[in-house]
Amino acid sequence: MDDRWFMKQIVVAGIDAGSSAIKLSLYDGVQMKNVSCPSGWNPKEQAASLLAAALAKQEVITPAYLVGTGYGRFNLPFVTKAMTEITCHARGASYLLPEAKTVLDIGGQDAKAIRIDEQGKVQDFVMNDKCAAGTGRFLQVMANALGLDVAEIGNIEAGADGQQCTINSMCTVFAESEVIGLVNRGITREAIIGALYTSIANRVAAMAAGIQPTPPVAFTGGVAQNQALRRELAARLGLPVITHDQAIFAGSIGAALYAWDALQVS
Ligand code: ADP
Repeated sequence: MDDRWFMKQIVVAGIDAGSSAIKLSLYDGVQMKNVSCPSGWNPKEQAASLLAAALAKQEVITPAYLVGTGYGRFNLPFVTKAMTEITCHARGASYLLPEAKTVLDIGGQDAKAIRIDEQGKVQDFVMNDKCAAGTGRFLQVMANALGLDVAEIGNIEAGADGQQCTINSMCTVFAESEVIGLVNRGITREAIIGALYTSIANRVAAMAAGIQPTPPVAFTGGVAQNQALRRELAARLGLPVITHDQAIFAGSIGAALYAWDALQVS
């Protein structure tokens, strides 16, 4: 059986080298295939291996154009061109969720809000890459303090037991101490998780206010897998927030689409 993804021989690639994960999208003008792996301690090698493995599946195909994006984009010597993550995330989010007017991306170590037009072009943006509060790292540290991993936290129904508490520290290190203090006072995980979502959503909504977000808002990045946080963001913004099961790939998809455009004009 032929298990190649593409029947066409011309394929372009987008690679998003993030702080937590490398995302790769291959595109033949019709189909988009997305794969990922952890960034690890050597993201350049991780990205090269991910690309080689994906291309091996295609037998003879090599990418005709490769756009790199993300935090680690300048450490990818094999790309044809590097582009900013804001530009690529906007385009990729618009591909996945064409109705989106604003993109809210929460990744491993940054959060960004981008207002976009119908073509996925950036109209305005704001970014927090200075502080871990309101990012995937924050959620990961707090999940660990509760004895959970970042995916497991999403399976616990926040506030289900009716208890309430608040997390007041913005700083991740102090907030972690607060969580440990709450655990030791007998506050339930459900209540603490509810407070964590409120803290993240408040922080991200305050940042997003800077670009006057218009609905609907597309929630992307690894943290967008948490549906309770999506609902909390919608409540804080007072706007509908939608997502997609491939939302973590918005950056690499956007990069692949720009690679395809570049190929058409070259
Ligand atoms: P980056 O581009 O910085 O690598 P990503 O957009 O790939 O970031 O997202 C990675 C982050 O997503 C990780 O820091 C992790 O905390 C978070 N994450 C991964 N899986 C989940 C999940 N199931 N629920 C919530 N957050 C998650």
